[in-house]
Amino acid sequence: MPCSPVIELEQISKAFETTRALERVDLRVEPGQTTVLIGPSGCGKSTLLRVLVGLIEPDGGTATFEGSAITPRSVHALRRRMGYVIQEGGLFPHLTATENVVLMARELGWPEPKWRSRLGALAELTRLPTDALDRYPVELSGGQRQRVSLMRALMLDPDVLLMDEPLGALDSMIRFELQVELRAIFRRLGKTVLLVTHDLDEAGFFGDVIVLLRKGRIEQRGTLEELVHDPRNEFVRAFVNAQRSALAPLREKSR
Ligand code: ADP
Repeated sequence: MPCSPVIELEQISKAFETTRALERVDLRVEPGQTTVLIGPSGCGKSTLLRVLVGLIEPDGGTATFEGSAITPRSVHALRRRMGYVIQEGGLFPHLTATENVVLMARELGWPEPKWRSRLGALAELTRLPTDALDRYPVELSGGQRQRVSLMRALMLDPDVLLMDEPLGALDSMIRFELQVELRAIFRRLGKTVLLVTHDLDEAGFFGDVIVLLRKGRIEQRGTLEELVHDPRNEFVRAFVNAQRSALAPLREKSR
């Protein structure tokens, strides 16, 4: 029997004045899987994540999270079950790494021993050196900032991780290192992940399912193999051909 999706979008549309950012998007995000949203800049990837976390209200359609409709009234409570990592991490510059990570837990009234213990476990999981915990974001490297952002997103042990170009701002060495570690973390925790990238290589590395968008519409949903070997239309073929290095994860996965 197919399991229920964690996230389900039906006919979601959103326009900004004359720009149609999302047009009748249907999407199911299955539990325990990593679903990757990919497509050219401006195709609606970030807007889709923002709809899910309630930062943007769609013009039409329905979005549900674990069976509950995401509405302006429900989103606050649902939001706690979603960890959200925005582009470049989005850490508060005036708070230390620790303060950033535990902010929500403290607001929710967690006692100090409880949040300290969770903080320690997450630093270990993400391999953040403990001396980095007392530093401000500007005093951390790009890779460390991403580790802190991930810790913050995981603090309340959300059911889903939503990640918007989490590694976009990193140089290629650190990016590769973090890709490997992130994928291991997703697998270890068995989290449902919805991740945005513009890079097919990265999409293939992370994605159980890849969803390719163009101008607010889904062009194809499938595995990397399906997108590469069975493109549904000319756009998909051209997008794949423009990023030939995507073949690398195909080889990597088959090892
Ligand atoms: P992506 O994440 O795929 O690069 P976005 O979801 O950020 O794309 O944007 C989709 C489209 O909507 C783009 O044309 C963008 O310029 C437009 N857009 C996004 N947010 C806003 C906004 N707040 N106001 C006006 N236009 C927006």
